[in-house]
Amino acid sequence: MNTKKRIDLHNHTTLCNHATGTTEEYIQRAIELKIDVFGFSEHAPMNFDEKYRLKLKDKELYENDILSLKEKYKNDIEILLGYEVDYLKGDYILPEVINSKVDYLIGSVHFINDGWGFDNPEFIGQYKNKDINTIWEDYFEAITNMIKCGKFDIVGHLDLIKVFKFLPTKDIKTIAHTTLKEIKKSNMVVEINSAGYRKPIGEQYPSKELLELCYELNIPITFSSDAHSIDQVGLNYEKASSLAKEIGYKKCTYFQQRDKIETSF
Ligand SMILES: [Zn+2]
Ligand SMILES: [Zn+2]
Repeated sequence: MNTKKRIDLHNHTTLCNHATGTTEEYIQRAIELKIDVFGFSEHAPMNFDEKYRLKLKDKELYENDILSLKEKYKNDIEILLGYEVDYLKGDYILPEVINSKVDYLIGSVHFINDGWGFDNPEFIGQYKNKDINTIWEDYFEAITNMIKCGKFDIVGHLDLIKVFKFLPTKDIKTIAHTTLKEIKKSNMVVEINSAGYRKPIGEQYPSKELLELCYELNIPITFSSDAHSIDQVGLNYEKASSLAKEIGYKKCTYFQQRDKIETSF
């Protein structure tokens, strides 16, 4: 059977202190939108920027909440449990997170150059301190290292560094070339993340040109809204999925206990 599925694997909860709405409200909204597979991927616990992520002491609470919703709504929607894990220089990634019994782990870079939160409007001033090409190269180097560490299933918002529309003068495909080859080698999946439509850049992550490169390299994709509120659940999915189709993608991927499942979309 080749049924089409609507997938949304990257969503947050109030346990990270920068999201609103209950997990059950997210699920009800997802059902309303006819999403078939909906995954939570809370910002994983880490001894860095702790205020804006799940606390280690709440890890079980988070997991039990999602698992009980999974059971409660099993006839309406497939709910998945995951984490979005920050990759940054230093020994921050917790074995408790990496060894969790989850469906998938998203690897993301939100900090470069020794802890600069480059996607946070609060620290936007720091773009002035460094050459924009170097910033982009540093970012993609961090993504490459994240991929090489081999701990993750999904590349989170591949070109998040474009968030404020500070674009390099060098060719982006050249900057990202090594990263894309590394994704291919790793067998990881790239998410088409719709949060970018809500940001100054005004488009999905990754850009069309990078997505075309992913397609050429046969890199699988998944879909995510990166919702931090109920109204963001599934937002702009149509734009993201029609772009993927336009590029040539016919399948997308989700995970069950770290195993890949392919489906039409
Ligand atoms: Zn967040
Ligand atoms: Zn993120």
